[in-house]
Amino acid sequence: MSNPESNPVKQQVVVISGPSGVGKSTICGELIKRLDNVYLSISATTRPQKAGEQDGKDYYFIGRDEFEKQIKAGNFIEYAEVFGNLYGTPKDKLAQALEQGRIVLLEIDVQGARQVKKLYPEAKLIFIFPPKQTELQNRINGRGRDDGKDIEKRLAGAGIEIAAGWQHYEHIVINDSLAQAVEEVIQIIKRTGE
Ligand code: ADP
Ligand code: 5GP
Repeated sequence: MSNPESNPVKQQVVVISGPSGVGKSTICGELIKRLDNVYLSISATTRPQKAGEQDGKDYYFIGRDEFEKQIKAGNFIEYAEVFGNLYGTPKDKLAQALEQGRIVLLEIDVQGARQVKKLYPEAKLIFIFPPKQTELQNRINGRGRDDGKDIEKRLAGAGIEIAAGWQHYEHIVINDSLAQAVEEVIQIIKRTGE
């Protein structure tokens, strides 16, 4: 894979984190439409696939044994256990995208973001906040993807995720108006020297 320090100007890694339901996937979807040259990393996970999700598009859905094999083989740039399942960023495609000079977007949790920052000190860490905490429940319910237990786990984890966001992220964006949040993220990505 590429040496993260060989070309710090051309290599841009952007991490988007935030509590479940805040709008990370929606924002990343808009970024892909609005920016040229962006590669959105697809994570591997042991979480079961849900209705409406596509293997290889939303995630690579794999079993825990396979995930652990991939860890041992050093195939993840980072991985973490989130809400009882493992999630990880595959190394090969990320390295390839960076070598092509593309902006790499990682939609990952705070534990993963901290691992990425160690490997890529130039990475921009962007944390997405909801306009108010009760809005998370509305959005998770509105998405219609998760069952009651999964919703509970995600809402219970939101406080910890938000506290870590304040502590470790250099960029903060509130996703109240989607258009404005996307614009702010684009400005952060385009700014150099931070
Ligand atoms: P995450 O990836 O952070 O878990 P999603 O992108 O799946 O969140 O968004 C959760 C739900 O909230 C989706 O139904 C999405 O359409 C909706 N949503 C995203 N941004 C906004 C916004 N600014 N205002 C209202 N609803 C939003
Ligand atoms: P969900 O199961 O709701 O799709 O995702 C749960 C959380 O897992 C997301 O909020 C996201 O932050 C995190 N996540 C998704 N992919 C990865 C990954 O590759 N690495 C890490 N560390 N976290 C991830």
